[in-house]
Amino acid sequence: MQMNWEQIMQERLGDEIVHVDRATREKLSKDYYWYSPVLNRQLQHMKAADVIAIPRSEAEVAEIIAFGYHHNIPVTVRGAGTGNYGQAVPLQGGIVLDLSRMDEILEIGPGYARLQCGVRLGVMDKKAREAGQEIRIYPSTYVKATVGGFVSGGSGGIGSITHGNLWDGNVLEAVIYTMEETPQRLVIQGRDLFDYIHNYGTTGILTEVTIPLSPRTEWAQAIVSFNTLQESMKFGEALAREEKIPKRLIAPMEWPIPSYFVPFAKVIKAGKAAVMLEIAEESMDSVEALVDGYGGCIDHFIEAKQYRKTIGVSDFTWNHTTLWAMKTDSSMTYLQAGFELGRYEEQIELLKAKWGDEVYLHFEWVRSGGELALNALPLVRFQSEERLYEIVAFCESIGVKIFDPHTWVLEQGGRGEVGSMARKKRENDPRGLLNPGKMKVEP
Ligand code: FAD
Repeated sequence: MQMNWEQIMQERLGDEIVHVDRATREKLSKDYYWYSPVLNRQLQHMKAADVIAIPRSEAEVAEIIAFGYHHNIPVTVRGAGTGNYGQAVPLQGGIVLDLSRMDEILEIGPGYARLQCGVRLGVMDKKAREAGQEIRIYPSTYVKATVGGFVSGGSGGIGSITHGNLWDGNVLEAVIYTMEETPQRLVIQGRDLFDYIHNYGTTGILTEVTIPLSPRTEWAQAIVSFNTLQESMKFGEALAREEKIPKRLIAPMEWPIPSYFVPFAKVIKAGKAAVMLEIAEESMDSVEALVDGYGGCIDHFIEAKQYRKTIGVSDFTWNHTTLWAMKTDSSMTYLQAGFELGRYEEQIELLKAKWGDEVYLHFEWVRSGGELALNALPLVRFQSEERLYEIVAFCESIGVKIFDPHTWVLEQGGRGEVGSMARKKRENDPRGLLNPGKMKVEP
């Protein structure tokens, strides 16, 4: 009897690496796409991958790629599967290449760490902190998320207020495998890394990453309340501009968003806007003076020695804010937006006047390309896709840029055309087998 490709693969690589049972295939063919009601409708009944391959080494990765190329089988890479745009869903079946087992911290040196792609960011930060250093930027999913998944599917997060996003020097080097008959092992640095950052695994498979580290800071955390969102925004901006205060997080959000934070129910003040903060403990006096100056009140303070020992303030920021809202009210979804620095007060007023309680505003102060910027992850009470895109159109009409989180297509997620990345895809993946369907331009 002739064997099918799944059986050939299993025989060649062994069943510790190649999994064909239905439960594993279904579990590892999904990510957090259900965050979006639009993606959930489109992806929830999608057929699972035919095979899940879980290699332990680069040599095994290369063997799987060569096998996929030879048999013309799509390969979709997976880290921890916490991406929320369906990036890791194998739209055309084939192989899901789960790299979570490649989780060795290869080297921690002064100012850098060299990691296998499956290292979890939380594990990495703990090790770095023990060595007197720390990760610069990480997503709020750091406990589960892998460094390879963050570089290939994320953008920024905690720390971005000081160090910017992934494109701002937060990846130093990457080892990439191409999807060819004989896969090449490329070592990429500098500007060339842009073809691989936030690529959804379409231009190459990343097996090793070197990231920069900063000296360890003792971070205090606080929840500060203000009577109005506008006051909280002004305070946030002043703090963001205060270069002498080391900071990791400034996240203002309007009421009732703080009411969703059940573990902080005892300290949250009803009806108030809240700002979630991570600040160097040594600078707390200056922060307190700033809070006073803007009419705020520190409702909750977690001293630095409790850092990561209790539930942290950052567990309620970035897209975790949305998660807490969805836990209370399953009709909630979200958008990703960029407000204009000189105009955000007016933009907030216009948005609230038009959409009222249908849109709740949550901001993250960040740096991008060295400049201060105002990101937002507004919560939206979902009624229909049509209504959602009416809100998107309104935002764009008042100069609020939307990075649509309700699509798995790279170019439609707000990046626009991906020029050099598309060229790199043709070079590295001539048969278009890497995560097909995620990039508009395919070979
Ligand atoms: P996965 O989801 O497994 O993969 C992400 C993408 O990268 C997929 O397209 C996958 O094919 C590709 N990929 C994975 N590994 C590799 C590799 N080694 N080589 C090539 N391609 C690869 N993101 C942020 O940027 N900032 C946030 O603050 C943030 N907060 C979040 C909060 C919540 C509650 C949720 C659900 C998501 C959030 N995300 C955030 C999105 C996501 O969690 C992060 O981007 C995370 O870093 C993804 O890592 P992962 O290992 O889970 O990647």
